[in-house]
Amino acid sequence: MEALAGIEAFCSDVIEPFARNAAADRLPVSRKLAKAWGDLGMLGLQTPRELGGLGASYFAKISMVHALARRSFATAFSLNNMQSLVYIIATRAADEVREQHLSRLLQGDAIASVGITEPNGGSDLANMRTNATKVSGGWVVFGEKAWITNATICDLMLVSAQTATGTRGIGRFIVDMSSPGVERLPAHPMAVGHPAGLGGARFDRVFVPDSYLVDAPGEAFRLGMSAINGARTHVAAMCVATLQQSLATAVRYCVGREAFGKSLLNHQGLKWDLADVANRLEAANLLTYRAAERIADGCDATLAAAHAKKFAAESALFGVERCMQAMGACAVLESTSLVRHLGDLKLAGYADGTTEMQNERIGAFLIEHYAD
Ligand SMILES: Cc1cc2nc3c(=O)[nH]c(=O)nc-3n(C[C@H](O)[C@H](O)[C@H](O)COP(=O)(O)OP(=O)(O)OC[C@H]3O[C@@H](n4cnc5c(N)ncnc54)[C@H](O)[C@@H]3O)c2cc1C
Repeated sequence: MEALAGIEAFCSDVIEPFARNAAADRLPVSRKLAKAWGDLGMLGLQTPRELGGLGASYFAKISMVHALARRSFATAFSLNNMQSLVYIIATRAADEVREQHLSRLLQGDAIASVGITEPNGGSDLANMRTNATKVSGGWVVFGEKAWITNATICDLMLVSAQTATGTRGIGRFIVDMSSPGVERLPAHPMAVGHPAGLGGARFDRVFVPDSYLVDAPGEAFRLGMSAINGARTHVAAMCVATLQQSLATAVRYCVGREAFGKSLLNHQGLKWDLADVANRLEAANLLTYRAAERIADGCDATLAAAHAKKFAAESALFGVERCMQAMGACAVLESTSLVRHLGDLKLAGYADGTTEMQNERIGAFLIEHYAD
């Protein structure tokens, strides 16, 4: 993966300072940063080469996000959403949509987002209220989306809308955010995760041409559900990376600081605490790679992704808190980034399906395999 050889240096030179400023100034990912990602090929990571991307494997994506999420979990989130939309437009959109938008998206000159969640809830997709009505030459979209990554800065949004009742009635439409009837809403006033640029939009009878229906009703829900396993495994990898960075910070600190005549890490209680963190980190990483392997092999990864995301999200919260305890008061200094990591990691339990929704997947497996 030659094109990605400079990613580690890019992350320490650009992402690290960006993440610190973004937390202090409450800033989303900037267009300048999106452009830098485009220049490095990161936005077209999995997009096939013949369509202008790098055609990299899912494992390459997981490796790349490690470098990013060690610096900023929320920035990694933003990048992943942009990449996903580029991939969808490259591989599924009509020719005219591709011609108009793909190269701008690949280069970071345009930004896209994925709008599923609504103000009344995100878990219960069948209860989606945004709707699309067929008219001559296209569709009219009406409704509101909330908690959408990159919504505050995006040019296009892939909007899920009901064309008929039930999840089979959901279609996915690319909406140009400059269309008449689109109202971009202010960023959610969050205490954490600012780089992800979470916000919403209202769609008041927005006309969308037929060619901008990317995933037809009947297909959209199935395609969304199969992609979600990749997204969940990706979140698990982000949790692993952020936890790994936090553990390294704690270990370095505890080796260098003395109490009662020896380094903190030579006190058994503390060393064992960090060993517990390392133990969960290892297990979360293995679950993540098991799920990634199934995705890369084209196998059903529903259960593996649910286990990986649930365990990695819970372990990361547990682990960063333990790392902070081991460091004493110095843990809360801004320079350690640990409070920022802890806050951002809380988001992992919501995004791409809450921990409870992962329990639903795992629970369904229990019934299927152990009930009789
Ligand atoms: C960082 C971040 C990025 C995001 N990016 C996007 C994005 O790009 N696009 C997008 O569409 N959405 C996005 N979301 C929204 C996310 O998908 C939703 O937050 C998620 O689906 C949960 O929906 P909700 O927050 O409305 O919670 P709700 O669905 O209202 O649920 C509230 C609580 O009830 C629990 N619950 C609900 N139903 C059940 C049940 N049957 N059994 C047990 N417990 C239940 C949930 O698990 C949760 O704990 C993002 C969220 C975050 C935090």
